[in-house]
Amino acid sequence: MTREATDEIRARIDLVDLIGAHVRLTKAGRSFKGLCPFHEEKTPSFHVNPERGMWHCFGCGEHGDCFTFLMRLETLSFPEALQRLADKAGVTLERRGRGPSRDQRDEMLSALASAARFYGECLQKSERAGQYVRKRAIDAETASKFGLGFAPEGWDNLAGFFAREKVDLGAAEKAGLVSRRRDGGYYDRFRNRLMFPVTDASDRVVGFGGRDLGTDGPKYLNSPETPVFRKGSTLYGFGLARKAIAAAGHVVLVEGYLDVISCHRAGIDNAVAAMGTASGEGHVALLKRVCDRAVLCFDMDSAGQKAALAASELFGAGGFDARVAVLPEGDDPDSLVASGRMADLIRALEGAVPAADYRLDALMASFDLREETERSRMLEKAVEMVARVPNVFERDRLIRKLVPYHADFRKGYGADRGEDSAETRIRQAVERMLPAGAKAARRMPSSAAQKPAGRSRTPLGATEKAERIILMALLQGGELADHAAARIAPDGFVGEVCRQLAAEIFRRREVGEDPASIPLAEGAPQTGEPAPGGEDMQQEQARRLASSLLVRGAGAPLTKPVLDDCVERVLAESRRRELSELQDLVKRGEITRDDPRFQEYLALMRRAHG
Ligand SMILES: [Zn+2]
Repeated sequence: MTREATDEIRARIDLVDLIGAHVRLTKAGRSFKGLCPFHEEKTPSFHVNPERGMWHCFGCGEHGDCFTFLMRLETLSFPEALQRLADKAGVTLERRGRGPSRDQRDEMLSALASAARFYGECLQKSERAGQYVRKRAIDAETASKFGLGFAPEGWDNLAGFFAREKVDLGAAEKAGLVSRRRDGGYYDRFRNRLMFPVTDASDRVVGFGGRDLGTDGPKYLNSPETPVFRKGSTLYGFGLARKAIAAAGHVVLVEGYLDVISCHRAGIDNAVAAMGTASGEGHVALLKRVCDRAVLCFDMDSAGQKAALAASELFGAGGFDARVAVLPEGDDPDSLVASGRMADLIRALEGAVPAADYRLDALMASFDLREETERSRMLEKAVEMVARVPNVFERDRLIRKLVPYHADFRKGYGADRGEDSAETRIRQAVERMLPAGAKAARRMPSSAAQKPAGRSRTPLGATEKAERIILMALLQGGELADHAAARIAPDGFVGEVCRQLAAEIFRRREVGEDPASIPLAEGAPQTGEPAPGGEDMQQEQARRLASSLLVRGAGAPLTKPVLDDCVERVLAESRRRELSELQDLVKRGEITRDDPRFQEYLALMRRAHG
């Protein structure tokens, strides 16, 4: 697929048409707006700009073009969205690479759908499998909602069915349903198992999990990773739970297929499970599109608790408010629901503790805190852990939890003073460990850097407004962009995100690329996978700012005198900040008269005071 093809599709697709099929759009000036499909809202903040071929939500900050819209809405990969829109636009894609062709994928999906049908019929007919399902307290309605099935004993039940139904056995093999015999025939992969079909966000069966009903073989057998079944970005039950997750604003993440089913039976219909025990960044990214809170509800055994610790850290790093539900010892959601103790499950979910507290409690429990040396070893580890918590208020809360274990707290002289000194010491230790970004953010609490671009609720300050107008001119290109570029450099911008965006615009101007394509940058969310090495928050914020400016415009006609005013305002603020920083350094004696920065300080002083 060439760059030209994506550009051509983008140009041919009527974005208002495409989005209008899913969102009621009304005209608003040169753009259109409606209720955002990616977050819950009552007043429209989702804007579509057909001229630019871009959309932007001023509520949640999601943004992009026709490809990203389809990817987000239907959880497609970029190649899938590309193919869909190419078909719609009548553009033929050149095939490159070794990926399976669309026909092959269709064959695999059709084999998977036939298999689901076959397994479903077998469940109806099998007395033994039916008994097992009833024993697990799964009613018929739930069984059909989740499409449960049964793979009978024997080596060629499914293979024989495929042969009779003229299903392509090669595609069935690629989909992980059958394996090839030495003599060239095929045999069933799943035998004597209760079958759980796994669907993608478009409700197509992409794989299976099978629970052994006999005594041999692993308890659970899953489909292998295939071109249509990517475990790292697939969640069991997501198709069924998606709406409920968005409505509740949070997801309940459980461990197994039966846990998901039991939760839904108990009315917790926002429950999903990762494929296998480990959740990964792909799952976090998938869920981030629908919610920003997660309750992790895993087994209380050591494997389950280890998974809960890892997942809580992963979801926390992904910007989720993550909580951990603590179940009664020896239980999981399935056993609670099956034994009629749904109330216990719901209580555990409602009483879920913040993930950071959970991690700290687990850490503290692993030391013998009656011993002085153990206490200090615990504190050392705890400080490292607390420093990784992104939220400053949460860090404070955790620090206070640690105070009673610090040596100063226990020293005799006056309980109050001991407590103060212990808290100060722990806080200092945490601050020394903070990543550089968090330290910088702490020093400049009022800077625009902390506010995600384009979604701040407070009115913009005059400087921020001016910065945006300049960036708007720079993004649009043409004579006004040259005018602005000649008067202010990226360093002149005050806000971190504005500075970052300006730097990217200047880089593109230099190499002759269109700055207006910044929101669609390669490696951006466009590919649907997290960028290697993790998405840089600031870069994403800069792209978001560019998108919001391009989609809604500057709100006022841009002229050279307006631009000149804005540039002067921003540069004055930039000088004011620099001066106040230098003043601080001079006051604290960190800059002496022979420091070259002292001359800079004097020059800024003269300029500021006329
Ligand atoms: Zn939104």
